[in-house]
Amino acid sequence: MAANLLATLGDLERDSFVPLLSKLIGESKHPPELIPQEDRVVKHVLDILLPFSTTSSGGPLLVNHVTYHAGRGNLIIEYPGTVPGKILSFVGCHMDVVTVNPNDWDFDPLSLTVDGDKLRGRGTTDCLGHVALVTELVRKLGETKSNLKSTIVAVFIANEENSAITGVGVDALVKDGLLNKLKDGPLYWIDTADKQPGVGTGGMIPWKLHVTGRLFHSGLAHKEQVYGFATPSTMKPTQWSYPGGGINQIPGECTISGDVRFILLLS
Ligand SMILES: [Zn+2]
Repeated sequence: MAANLLATLGDLERDSFVPLLSKLIGESKHPPELIPQEDRVVKHVLDILLPFSTTSSGGPLLVNHVTYHAGRGNLIIEYPGTVPGKILSFVGCHMDVVTVNPNDWDFDPLSLTVDGDKLRGRGTTDCLGHVALVTELVRKLGETKSNLKSTIVAVFIANEENSAITGVGVDALVKDGLLNKLKDGPLYWIDTADKQPGVGTGGMIPWKLHVTGRLFHSGLAHKEQVYGFATPSTMKPTQWSYPGGGINQIPGECTISGDVRFILLLS
């Protein structure tokens, strides 16, 4: 008889979830700067899952550590079901966090604080908490060897937070066809796009707005009646620029330039 996935997961075990999350959040300190080292998180996940893998212990879990950039691996874990082609996947738990300057905080964001049933630290909701949660799910599958109809696949990814860098995380996995078979069943994207704990979010739609008008001299805008404004000789902003970055980042600076015309009075 096939077991139920939720029954297999049962209650979340605080005594294994919290210490794992604590280790994951502690790794955000390395390095403190811009390039995450996801393999530091991978190591903790594998410490828990390898004892149930096919290679090291004859267990049921198929473990695939896929690396496109040194130190920045992705993990694909598969638990085989009994019905060929039936598949259910959890994708998108990312092992990087947005960088943070600890000096700007009145508590240490790079270590987990446990206050009753409140957990606090960088990545608790986005997304190391999800990494720990899905690791716990897969560990339970490995331990119980439940008889499930569906194959369960968990995909932990690198480089989700910086879309300016490509070829490291889920985009590379897709390009290599490593997620193709997940299309045959429901795929849950496990991440949060808000500050509260989320059940899940469903991707992103990038957009851009391009505005066209007439190019003319900054001092003569009033001659274009359609725009209905006059331009005096004072500050006229004419050009805007910013340093670039990912489409999911608000730039930290912006430069606006223009000209001011002086009137020379002769008497
Ligand atoms: Zn996220």
